Amino acid sequence: MKRISNYIDGQLVAPNSGKYLDNIDPSRGEKYGEIPDSDASDVQAATLAAKTAFPMWSKTSREERSRLLLKIADLIDANHEMLAQAESKDNGKPIKLARKVDIPRASANFRFFATAILHESSEFHRTDISTINYTDKSAIGVAGCISPWNLPLYLFTWKIAPALAAGNTVVAKPSEITPMTAFLLSELCIEAGLPKGVLNIVHGLGQKVGQAISEHPDIPVISFTGGTATGKQIAATAAPMFKKLSLELGGKNPNIIFADCDFEEALNTTVQSSFANQGQICLCGSRIFVERPIYERFRDAFVQKVKQLKVGVPSDEETNLGAVVSEGHMKKVLTYIDLAKQEGGKVLTGGNQVRLQGDYAQGYYLAPTVIEGLDFNCRTNQEEIFGPVVTMMPFDAEEEVIMMANSTQYGLAATVWTQELNKAHRVASALKSGIVWVNCWLLRDLRTPFGGVKNSGVGREGGWDALNFFTEKKNVCIKL
Ligand code: NAD
Repeated sequence: MKRISNYIDGQLVAPNSGKYLDNIDPSRGEKYGEIPDSDASDVQAATLAAKTAFPMWSKTSREERSRLLLKIADLIDANHEMLAQAESKDNGKPIKLARKVDIPRASANFRFFATAILHESSEFHRTDISTINYTDKSAIGVAGCISPWNLPLYLFTWKIAPALAAGNTVVAKPSEITPMTAFLLSELCIEAGLPKGVLNIVHGLGQKVGQAISEHPDIPVISFTGGTATGKQIAATAAPMFKKLSLELGGKNPNIIFADCDFEEALNTTVQSSFANQGQICLCGSRIFVERPIYERFRDAFVQKVKQLKVGVPSDEETNLGAVVSEGHMKKVLTYIDLAKQEGGKVLTGGNQVRLQGDYAQGYYLAPTVIEGLDFNCRTNQEEIFGPVVTMMPFDAEEEVIMMANSTQYGLAATVWTQELNKAHRVASALKSGIVWVNCWLLRDLRTPFGGVKNSGVGREGGWDALNFFTEKKNVCIKL
């Protein structure tokens, strides 16, 4: 039974309360470890350590910051298999996904920002012959980074790496549902020789640890990824203190499939974009709109393919869908499937919990579920389910599908499938969405802006956006 620790001021330490929460293995539905049940006093200790380390770290040369962050990236790579196994066990995701996506992306995040700072430049504006301005950039101070459970190390490092690279020190909180790889990262940071207090990781509940980070007067900048309701609460806490906020929130992403698409490509990618990570990626499409001339053909082929997906033990190489993250989340998804039926939906495949054999009989497994026959504006099609459930709807006209796609409170990501270039541009431009993928899904270039509109968030991460977020700019105007 693994009991993990907080990482504060360079040390692995127990929570002040001495209390621990259970860490559940979702593939077996049983406790396999313990997590610090930290509180505001631990956040206080972490913030003090970060505040103390800030003058030193913010003055450390770019080359040295880069070297240390690259060392962490190298250590993640060197421990790739151990971290992938840990992520798969903690989250329930298939091991092949953790190996291919989660862990490589965590080291890529460090590498990307560690090298970006070596190429950063600043602006200069000449007002007239005798007046010049230059933009002085500096780190802000102690950054708060709060992340969710769906892509644990991937999203945790997506925040921490730019914050540290820009010269801030960090108080970070991973999800209490999937804390393991953040803990393992703290061990790697010690091994890499990251100076004490530069990164602090406090484990525990959102209402205690997350709230204490949002409230803390010495944490002026917060990057949060998680649910929209939590984002609202953080914004309400932080706004009166004028904290700088980046909020990456929920989604209800549309896939728009026109009749002129490359049918096989659209089909195969839409199966992935629906059910990768058990549908628990904020970028997964959950509403599939198909142009009427190909609706039935696409639907039947889609259902056929979904039926072939294997729901299984995460450590099995053949598994396509592992366990969903928790019992509570499984129940929530099942409740939405019931709601869809009440709203008149017809379940074409799935719709049920899957019981595996032996040690895994109590695990949280759901069959990939496809539902049709629902109105675009019913609750099932408006609310985020965040599980292996998609709906399918036919459409007749471009304006109609744009209206339906834009009808939710969310606006994170969308896919558009068509061979006609002008149509792709038109639709991409009309979608109220932070990201539009045309004839592809989840192709990520870390330089591009990432974020949502409407209730999917505020601000952009990625590339210079992330470094700018963690940087204060000052204009210095000189009369010569
Ligand atoms: P969540 O909002 O429940 O939790 C996210 C984090 O916030 C956790 O670490 C949690 O402990 C913490 N938290 C909870 N209450 C808090 C509070 N009052 N103050 C501060 N922190 C608090 O989200 P989740 O269930 O972990 O993740 C799923 C959600 O995340 C989905 O809505 C999904 O769409 C969203 N998500 C969005 C993106 C994106 O980039 N937009 C990426 C991944 C996940």
